[in-house]
Amino acid sequence: MVNPYIDGFARGLKPDPYLFIDEWADRFRKLPKGASAEAGQYRTDRMPYLRPLMRALSPQSKFQQIKAIKGTQLGFSEAGLNAAMYYMDIVPTSQLTILPTESLTKGHSTKKLTPSLRDMPHLANKIKPGKTKDDIGELFDKTYDGGSLKLAWSFSPANFRSLSCRFVSMDDVDGFPLNIEGEGSPLDLGKKRTDAFGVLRKIYINSTPTKEGESNIEEEFADSDQRHYYMPCPSCTPREIELQTRENMVLFEKDNFVFDYDKETYTLLGDVQFCCPHCGTLTPESKKTWMMSAASGARDIPHNEGHIHFGIRVPSYYSPVGFLSWNDIFREMLSAKKLMKTGDNRKMKTWVNTRDAKVWEEQSTSVNVDNLPARKEEYGAEVPEGVLVLSAGVDTQDDRFEVETVGYGKDGETWSIDYEIINGDPNTPEARAALAAYLNKTFVCHDGATMKIYAKGVDTGGHRQKAVYAFCKPRFVQRVYALKGSSTVNAPFINKRASKNKKTGTNLFLIGVNVGKDEIYANLEITEEGPNYMHFPNKPAYSDEYFKQLTAEKRDKKTGIWTKKRHRNEAVDCRNYANASLQLAGIDEQVLNMGRRFGIVSAGTSTGVMKKSQGRRTLSRGSR
Ligand SMILES: [Zn+2]
Repeated sequence: MVNPYIDGFARGLKPDPYLFIDEWADRFRKLPKGASAEAGQYRTDRMPYLRPLMRALSPQSKFQQIKAIKGTQLGFSEAGLNAAMYYMDIVPTSQLTILPTESLTKGHSTKKLTPSLRDMPHLANKIKPGKTKDDIGELFDKTYDGGSLKLAWSFSPANFRSLSCRFVSMDDVDGFPLNIEGEGSPLDLGKKRTDAFGVLRKIYINSTPTKEGESNIEEEFADSDQRHYYMPCPSCTPREIELQTRENMVLFEKDNFVFDYDKETYTLLGDVQFCCPHCGTLTPESKKTWMMSAASGARDIPHNEGHIHFGIRVPSYYSPVGFLSWNDIFREMLSAKKLMKTGDNRKMKTWVNTRDAKVWEEQSTSVNVDNLPARKEEYGAEVPEGVLVLSAGVDTQDDRFEVETVGYGKDGETWSIDYEIINGDPNTPEARAALAAYLNKTFVCHDGATMKIYAKGVDTGGHRQKAVYAFCKPRFVQRVYALKGSSTVNAPFINKRASKNKKTGTNLFLIGVNVGKDEIYANLEITEEGPNYMHFPNKPAYSDEYFKQLTAEKRDKKTGIWTKKRHRNEAVDCRNYANASLQLAGIDEQVLNMGRRFGIVSAGTSTGVMKKSQGRRTLSRGSR
């Protein structure tokens, strides 16, 4: 290819207005220490599949929408950052970057964008200074001559709905809610920001996919020219680039890898190799760099040629040598496969999404109730061994409260402890006093110690909002939280930043109930004691009705929303609120795995308390 930019090189390190983004990055982009696996000069050759994408993002390209469905550790976010900085430096214009959540946006600004600017003084000098002298621009706004880069997050579309930008970059769009009530789809709102720019607009959308039917990126990629990165097989593809075609080249896809593993322990034996689908020759990972390089003839080939939008699919097998190895990827796959034997599919889902870059097809959409009551067990104490902390979730109805107290141990294992119905209208002081008394109760542990409920969450939905606010506000210091379920399908399970109710001053926490139910129903599928298993006590409160309520919901395959298949579902709500409250109190799996007990009011001795059957415990440990 003739290179019209050699001239620019000769003139020294002054940005040339005719560079493509990849060329600009290869000359000017510095990867900051700490934020990247490889600090120093950026080199597109490390990730050659990004070159056509950065070309399409360049102003010289006709493409207006550039989309990538991808695995992790492949540099797609970095490519977006290259484009953002190019549009500050070479073609200054107004631009917007949207990430899923506020904390991700903050992290993007402080850990990636600002350090990158700091390492590129010629660019940092163009940014209007922030409040303090050391800042490079504001946290969410970098203003320069000719435009500004604004940063926003998908759960607050109000922050970007009035902007008009030439370049909008949307990172990890499967973390965006599909729809926000009254606002619409943040992804569509983001795209609309470019309307005023017509053919000059650039929209970059990338993500690892999530679930089938509710994946933004799957839908976007389908609406593109669907490129894949083809390479020559070192053994059978002709070396002459002009003779290489989609038919005689190869892709890195899951089924093209071979490896051996121990069928008992799921341990990888030896190295993962690439097996050519044409000639069957095995190729070691050391050949990957050559296979992927432009010199070998590797290039992106569309499966949907002629479509107006650019789209590329790249799974993690393409991760450059030194990042994520084939052995690591398939070791993760084997450990996920092992976990699936216990009924836990979550690790495999994550693997399929983040490594194989494919959507996950849900196996079951509702839980079978029949075998749950049979799982009830004798605990031998109110709080059995293994429980480190108690949390309670309260569902509020017009004529009663329903409360479940749940015990939590290591690795997500839980024990239902107690389920209580407190009759009486929550508007009456009597009902609220009865609830207060219940939440103040102590429980006896297996070793005779007594334990209080550490975190408590009360539902404020329905018609008794005011009464619940009044109940929760003075008890906030005792970790009694006012909760409200969010109906947005993938709203984060908890949001530690409360919204203050203006009239009463009560902190109100929004709970992503749908995500919470995904978790509960996935856990219910697990049939083996141990990580994430849900235990139920042999107590009258855990009746057949309880289990019917717990499994009262069905996941809609199209929307991903759990909806009632029977009227009463309080049990699943209580469980969701108990789980959320514990996290609001700052106790997550990491904290629990340290093994400390919370809420102990008096230490006990083990005399007089029945010990839990040792046999079952040993069995479950052996199977981990
Ligand atoms: Zn071959």
